[in-house]
Amino acid sequence: MKVLSGKGVYGGIAIGKISLFHRKSRSVTRYTVADGEAEIHRFRQAKAVAAEELTALYEKALRDIGESGAQIFEIHRMMLEDDDYTDAVLHAIRTEGVNAEYAVATAAENFSMVFSSMEDPYMQARAADIRDISHRLIRVLEGKGEEQMAPKEEPRIICADDLSPSETMRLDRELVAAFVTADGSVNSHTAILARTMGIPAVVAVGGQLMEARDGETVIVDGFAGRVYLSPDSQTLERMEEKRKEDQKEKDLLQKYKGMDNVTLDGTRIDIFANIQGLREVGAALLHDAGGIGLFRSEFLYLDRRDFPTEEEQFQVYKTVLQSMGGKKVVIRTVDIGADKQVGYFGLEREENPAMGMRGIRICLNRPSVFRTQLRALLRASVFGKLAVMFPMITSVSEVRDAMELATQVRQDLDREGIPCSNRTEWGIMIETPAAALISDRLAPLVDFFSIGTNDLTQYTLAMDRQNRSIAAFLDPHHEAVMRLIEMTVQHAHTAGKWVGICGELGADGELTECFLRMGVDELSVPPAYILRLRDKIRNLDLRNDQK
Ligand code: PEP
Ligand code: MG
Repeated sequence: MKVLSGKGVYGGIAIGKISLFHRKSRSVTRYTVADGEAEIHRFRQAKAVAAEELTALYEKALRDIGESGAQIFEIHRMMLEDDDYTDAVLHAIRTEGVNAEYAVATAAENFSMVFSSMEDPYMQARAADIRDISHRLIRVLEGKGEEQMAPKEEPRIICADDLSPSETMRLDRELVAAFVTADGSVNSHTAILARTMGIPAVVAVGGQLMEARDGETVIVDGFAGRVYLSPDSQTLERMEEKRKEDQKEKDLLQKYKGMDNVTLDGTRIDIFANIQGLREVGAALLHDAGGIGLFRSEFLYLDRRDFPTEEEQFQVYKTVLQSMGGKKVVIRTVDIGADKQVGYFGLEREENPAMGMRGIRICLNRPSVFRTQLRALLRASVFGKLAVMFPMITSVSEVRDAMELATQVRQDLDREGIPCSNRTEWGIMIETPAAALISDRLAPLVDFFSIGTNDLTQYTLAMDRQNRSIAAFLDPHHEAVMRLIEMTVQHAHTAGKWVGICGELGADGELTECFLRMGVDELSVPPAYILRLRDKIRNLDLRNDQK
């Protein structure tokens, strides 16, 4: 048995036989052409055919995986039409007198090098998209059709040095159990497609993969990012167990996908997803999230040396909003501090960071950091249904100050002629006992509340959420916390505002009935819990006495 490690891009276990995919060599010959204008005409025709192919792929993706996954091919079509890219090709044909294939290959190499050298991993991953559209153009110029992607009979596991997004889209879900690539990245469109299509996949396992034999047995563990070549019987047994469990979960998913979150007596509730970044948007969609209820934006600030720029943040917020296709996306402004420390913020060491400089306190103390994020959010607001919320609120003045800054940023953007949506909702997290207790005064200032039960519990019970040694004292359903939640819901509703729960208690099936009875409007939970909660809710009848 040989074990290869890479990056899991979609959780799932697949056991099967390998089908090695060697992309036909695309070495392009350079030759000079006598008639440059005729060569340009040939290039333009190839471009039109490539655009048609991309439209067909877009339509297939739209049918198979929906709007958000299909957008990738819309983006490819736009890249194909990009003026800079076209000009580079035309320029090479005109000035060097080279053939169109060679001009396209050179432009592809240059553009993909530019993307690869960018710092932002999202932009780096775009290099693969450029190569993909260029391969398509060259194939069309050579008069060849699309390559066969999958075996015709039993489901196989595709192993390739890399797969382009369009190759991934052409994988037949019935005949491809999983795929593994030697190269690739978790941010690539290929990875995003794998998640949207629900294909277990591991990328970046290294060149050893291509030493595997066609027909060899392989296990792909997309959860752990591991690949077992010719597995021993013990591993096979263990992974088969894991696969069955995973299958059970996926069957549930199929059964409840597309259904309402409604009890037997007709009470409805929204179930949204908690995410930390772009990577989980696919999981949110796959598990049928009604929206994003908590995007912990501080994850954009972690694991880096300097603040994310306005443009970097804008691109991420815009992508999430576009991917959610008009469903609500609640983005929480940065909640650094406490357990999420970031060196470049230069915060002083604190005895008790959970009660120190964190969340909205940092933002109000450093308006320039806050403004950058608010600008990025407001610029992105035109790309979907945005809601913004502030963390760690304890007072009326904090809400007023934060809203005032948001208004100023909005005015700046208006002056600069940058469009913003008028429909953006503004809310706050209720995660301190103070905020819950004065929620009647806070409700009129905002559009919604989202209850953060993780911090609300730690601050109400004076029990550090990080400290495992006090776990025995912690009652996660403590009456004090439940009363604060109920009070918050009532105050929100009195003011005509909606209220959700985005802390971990929202996913606690033992409390679902209780939250429904309180009138909570939305539960935001990790994606994998959405359909379990839907199952629970659809079997509840609030006309019965509470157990
Ligand atoms: C919470 O406190 O419940 C919450 C959702 O925020 P975080 O867990 O990110 O502190
Ligand atoms: Mg919190």
